[in-house]
Amino acid sequence: MDFKFSEEQQKFRQEVRDFLEEELRQGLWQPSCDAWIMGFDPEFTKRVAQKGWIGLTWPKEHGGQGRSYVDRLIITEEMLRYGAPAGCHWFADRQIGGAILLYGTDEQKKELLPMILRGEARVGLGMSEPEAGSDLASLKTRAVEDGDDYIIDGQKVWTSGGSHMNWIYLVARTDQEAPKHRGISEFFFETRLPGIDVRPIVDITGRVHFNEIFFDSVRVSKKCLIGEKNRGFYQILHQLDYERSGMERLMANYPLFEALIQYVKETKRNGKPLSEEPLIRSKLAQLKIELEVGRLHMYRIALVMDEGRAPNWESAMGKAYGTAFEQRLANTAMEIIGLYGQLSPESKWAPMLGMAHESYLSSKGYSLQAGTSEILKNILALRKLELPTQ
Ligand SMILES: Cc1cc2nc3c(=O)[nH]c(=O)nc-3n(C[C@H](O)[C@H](O)[C@H](O)COP(=O)(O)OP(=O)(O)OC[C@H]3O[C@@H](n4cnc5c(N)ncnc54)[C@H](O)[C@@H]3O)c2cc1C
Repeated sequence: MDFKFSEEQQKFRQEVRDFLEEELRQGLWQPSCDAWIMGFDPEFTKRVAQKGWIGLTWPKEHGGQGRSYVDRLIITEEMLRYGAPAGCHWFADRQIGGAILLYGTDEQKKELLPMILRGEARVGLGMSEPEAGSDLASLKTRAVEDGDDYIIDGQKVWTSGGSHMNWIYLVARTDQEAPKHRGISEFFFETRLPGIDVRPIVDITGRVHFNEIFFDSVRVSKKCLIGEKNRGFYQILHQLDYERSGMERLMANYPLFEALIQYVKETKRNGKPLSEEPLIRSKLAQLKIELEVGRLHMYRIALVMDEGRAPNWESAMGKAYGTAFEQRLANTAMEIIGLYGQLSPESKWAPMLGMAHESYLSSKGYSLQAGTSEILKNILALRKLELPTQ
């Protein structure tokens, strides 16, 4: 395993940085935490698409660049470092395009992939339901065949980006009689259909990020079925490995990390610079150690994908580690800034634009979304440590 970047990769990283620096110079957006999932800027996504940076790893015959997952990780790492608003294309680029490549028909590939490559598919992930989260196979949303169509009824919840999405990747029950894992299928369709009702949920930070989605006799063509009917549960497990695999599980709050170091350098308490406090220095150094270890692990995951393997336990390990790091980063920021940490971004007295406040609150959800840390540790226990099934 070689962790050294090639000269081309170093040049590529510089190209991505130059692009993002120029965007910042023009004032096109403000860096922010969580921007990969909360930053919705269709124009930014279009510019990224024009660079050919969506679908980078896809084969050339499907419009991709046939490049490596390490190259893709370079892009995503830099976007996270700069806090760039990549929420409009992240899901489609990370896992939906790959799922269509793997399971879609030729017709679906021809129709859907170019739309993703152009940055036009803002995709919501319709998996969780009120009674089905960790145990996704318990889902109740039904898709019943009716001629050339399916009729969908049910409810999804916690759909990230639901208010901005124009397409949804939905898992629904297509066989009521089969054992629960064997009666599920995947669908991909536009959300501007009669019978779809998207209701925002206000999250702990006061922002709208995820949504409830109700399906009332929604008619979708059978052409929207992705992959094999009733094999959707196994397909989605594969996709989850990709969903958990990236640098966004470690560096979503990187702008806070940088701001915190700057804050410590610039701030005095009781006449003494915070940067001279041994405890604060030690805490920041500890975070830096953890960040670097996490980065190397994320690159290791990309290498696994470049070998053509789905990163199963590797992703579980990376996400459990990375999200715990992000929670420690937010906790440390709050400890260092003290009572000012309670001020939200609206307050002019909030240090670091209120980033610590928001990260502290939103990082609680990191160890839930895309699989809780308990579930990820179950995967590790079973798949890596080969402990017996419970
Ligand atoms: C910020 C955020 C964004 C999200 N975005 C999306 C999205 O875009 N699309 C989507 O479909 N869903 C989304 N989710 C939902 C997320 O996938 C679920 O919250 C998650 O899978 C857990 O399901 P649950 O909330 O129903 O909790 P439950 O599954 O009910 O779990 C409750 C607790 O029990 C523990 N637990 C459950 N089973 C086991 C077990 N077998 N062993 C040990 N412990 C166990 C869990 O770890 C957890 O602590 C999002 C969630 C959050 C917080």
